[in-house]
Amino acid sequence: MSDEGPTAPQPAEQPAEQPPQQPGQDPGLEPWLREILRCPSCRSELRDAIGPHGGAELVCTNEACALAYRVDDGIPVMLVDEARSTRA
Ligand SMILES: [Zn+2]
Repeated sequence: MSDEGPTAPQPAEQPAEQPPQQPGQDPGLEPWLREILRCPSCRSELRDAIGPHGGAELVCTNEACALAYRVDDGIPVMLVDEARSTRA
């Protein structure tokens, strides 16, 4: 009996430090927060967008809904009453 399994090198542990924020489009929303957020109207996922006034928005990916929720100081306002419709 011989153990000839190749000894694969262990993947290097990634350092815990986060890379600096990418310049450019930065809606100021934490990635983990965006992942758990869903459109309160139709429960679809949201995508980042920039509103007509230059502020960050989260826009529903459901084209039949397409509501845009504004983000105030990194806090998304997930209220259907406050949402803006982006449907043409
Ligand atoms: Zn929706």
